[in-house]
Amino acid sequence: MKTPLVEMDGDEMTRVLWAIIKDELILPFVDLKTEYYDLGLEYRDETNDQVTIDSAEATKKYGVAVKCATITPNAQRVEEYNLKEMWKSPNGTIRSILDGTVFRAPIVVKGIDPCVKNWEKPITIARHAYGDFYSGVELKIDKPGTAKVVFEGKDGTKIAETIHEFDAPGIIQGIHNTDKSISSFARSCFNYALDTKQDLWFSTKDTISKKYDHRFKDIFQEIYDNEYAKQFEEAGIEYFYTLIDDAVARVMRSEGGFIWACKNYDGDVMSDMVATAFGSLAMMTSVLVSPDGVYEYEAAHGTVQRHYYRHLKGEETSTNSVATIFAWTGALKKRGSLDNIPELEDFAQKLEDATIKTIENGTMTGDLARMSTLENINSVNSTEFIKAVRKTLEEKLKN
Ligand code: NAP
Ligand code: MG
Repeated sequence: MKTPLVEMDGDEMTRVLWAIIKDELILPFVDLKTEYYDLGLEYRDETNDQVTIDSAEATKKYGVAVKCATITPNAQRVEEYNLKEMWKSPNGTIRSILDGTVFRAPIVVKGIDPCVKNWEKPITIARHAYGDFYSGVELKIDKPGTAKVVFEGKDGTKIAETIHEFDAPGIIQGIHNTDKSISSFARSCFNYALDTKQDLWFSTKDTISKKYDHRFKDIFQEIYDNEYAKQFEEAGIEYFYTLIDDAVARVMRSEGGFIWACKNYDGDVMSDMVATAFGSLAMMTSVLVSPDGVYEYEAAHGTVQRHYYRHLKGEETSTNSVATIFAWTGALKKRGSLDNIPELEDFAQKLEDATIKTIENGTMTGDLARMSTLENINSVNSTEFIKAVRKTLEEKLKN
């Protein structure tokens, strides 16, 4: 390797898997260069979360990062880890520094059939990774009063609108987005559609949100008409906008094989739904693509807390490491292609193939074993699975 990968370590069960994956599947085969950032909750607390910011800045510098799942602290975690503060979501912090779009696609394997019978091809969710209530301001009010949204222009103009006249306690939320971020979201989606030769669908709730969501719709359309319409036509693919209610219905009836662009929250929940319907959250790739072409690869699932507590008690776990393995292969492939190291790309592809082949040959973790339609299933524990992948990989590398 020429340029280091930015390596962001994480928490709980995924941190355990991270180390095993590196030891068994990466280090024996790759002359790995990484710049290591420990995003485990203890170290985030120790550095007042500076390490998260540093890791995002390093990603901007080097261009490619691979991230382990991390705990987003809540009240219970503050107590559990005796935290100084309820630190923000690391993913939220990283996304607001890098901006961009998160693409999530299911990893399809034989024997794991989608619950939606007509889904024959993967559905990729493109999630806008900036703004809306992920960087919102919220107030809980306990008395009567007037809530307003106010804009004060640098030039002295002032716009104010009443949100609600409260005569009793309630809640308020202020959210925003920027034309710049929406435009880069649109361009990332159009580029990804062209790259992967898939149709692009985009949906919002513009019938209700006549200014906010409508702005998204207009920006997408403008950029499409001015910059992409011709290229889409040449590639034989289509872009269309539809109301989110209609999109949901169409997605369920579709055969898959397209990209569904979603606003931040829609993408957050729809990607979990799509992943689960395709089999499992642990069988989904996730990459954040920033407008300036920076990539951060991760798993879509969390730190698998319940399994970790069993692991701490010395019990056996059967945690699926596929999404974390694919985070590594995605990052290695991208590093290989940016630095022109075909051997690295080739290795990463073989590791992906070996992972899929291992499952299709019947060796898998418990979550998949419960769903698989294969006849002879060998349900294994967390470590055994990774070792089985290594064996398949070594065979692949021989020929
Ligand atoms: P989770 O880690 O996604 O796990 C929820 C459940 O889904 C697990 O208990 C397990 O079900 C199943 N599952 C998820 N991933 C699996 C895998 N790889 N292999 C096998 N089963 C898997 O969510 P959580 O336990 O609710 O959240 C734990 C922590 O993760 C939270 O602190 C949250 O903040 C954090 N989180 C981080 C990210 C991220 O960094 N990207 C994303 C989401 C959540 P069974 O127990 O039934 O086996
Ligand atoms: Mg989510």
